[in-house]
Amino acid sequence: MKAQFRKNRMITLLLTHDCNLRCRYCYVREYKSCSMSTETAKKVIAASFEEAKGFYDCLEFVFLGGEPLMLCRKVMEVAEWVWAQEWATPYLLSAVTNGTLLDEQNKEWFAKNKERFILCLSYDGTQSAQNINRSGSDSLIDIGFFIHNWPGQGLKMTISEESVPYLAESIIALQEKGVRANTSFAGGVPEWEPGSLDILRKQLDILADYYLEHAEATPSNLLSINLLPVLEDRKFMRAGCGLGESRITYDWDGQRYSCHLISPLVLSKEQIQKYGQIKEHGQIKGYEQVGTRCGEMNNHLCEECSLDGICPVCTGNSIRLFGKPDCREKSSCKTFKIQVMSACRYQLRAILKDPILNSSQIGSSEKYRIKAIKYIMESIS
Ligand code: SF4
Ligand code: SF4
Repeated sequence: MKAQFRKNRMITLLLTHDCNLRCRYCYVREYKSCSMSTETAKKVIAASFEEAKGFYDCLEFVFLGGEPLMLCRKVMEVAEWVWAQEWATPYLLSAVTNGTLLDEQNKEWFAKNKERFILCLSYDGTQSAQNINRSGSDSLIDIGFFIHNWPGQGLKMTISEESVPYLAESIIALQEKGVRANTSFAGGVPEWEPGSLDILRKQLDILADYYLEHAEATPSNLLSINLLPVLEDRKFMRAGCGLGESRITYDWDGQRYSCHLISPLVLSKEQIQKYGQIKEHGQIKGYEQVGTRCGEMNNHLCEECSLDGICPVCTGNSIRLFGKPDCREKSSCKTFKIQVMSACRYQLRAILKDPILNSSQIGSSEKYRIKAIKYIMESIS
């Protein structure tokens, strides 16, 4: 009976609120040189294993910041301590990094431990895109090191209004180096200008043409988005992100929060007093299904939108920006609609181009996909 509830839990350790970069879309509220002590890190990890017994199949510990590799020695010390213990629950160790602080000695350690410690690189594409978004840091990153050691890992790429002219070039260049970019749009930013939205449309079309000409390449997540849920009952689709339950965060001082976006890394003292108590099952007074409902500045927009079932809503981001858990940003709304329309055009062309899929033997799953595409194209203007 218990087995059906077993699952993974992600435990984020905010090692510091400091960073050596100042990315244009960064959510850190105030850069400061606080740092989690080795003792606190060990205590949090040991307590997490204790709490997991019988409830979770695997624990994923993620070192985050700010920039966690500002405390690289500490990361290594804690990791080596974890490996030296016996734990009852399987686990993974990883860190999300901007990749600019790795010296040769550090690289040697991470390369030696690559099977048991994953470094996830946040990197925004071509030299121009990276420099525009991430403090001119391109020359500080050894991209080959990440690709060589964690080839299947992919990179986390963020597109801003300023870097959107480089979107297709960035994704294609990385893909041709053998690495996949998990791409998303910067949040917490002003609405994009109409001209920038036009550029986004054109960039996605360039990307679509590339994948239609290179059938061997795995399409970007921007174009391969699963469209089928638009045909299903929305109420069944929204499961939430697991905040406070399958994902929790410990700040540098050992205080526990449901998500790093609902912690002092991002929120003010007043906001923390109001929302920091969201701990279990993501619940907050007055909102019984946090992370499962749609909203925007204008609720009707989302409730009537055919994309409600596939449009991402992040509770932490919503609280950070709107003080409510169920709102989507206006700027994301516009970029998401453009992304989905491009994905529809691309997926339809891919089906029609494929001699097998385009034969009279077209399968029921493809028919269903075409139905979803048609439904979206007719309903989104
Ligand atoms: S690397 Fe991360 S923490 Fe540092 S400025 Fe950029 S987004 Fe913020
Ligand atoms: S695309 Fe816009 S209107 Fe539609 S669900 Fe998303 S935020 Fe709401």
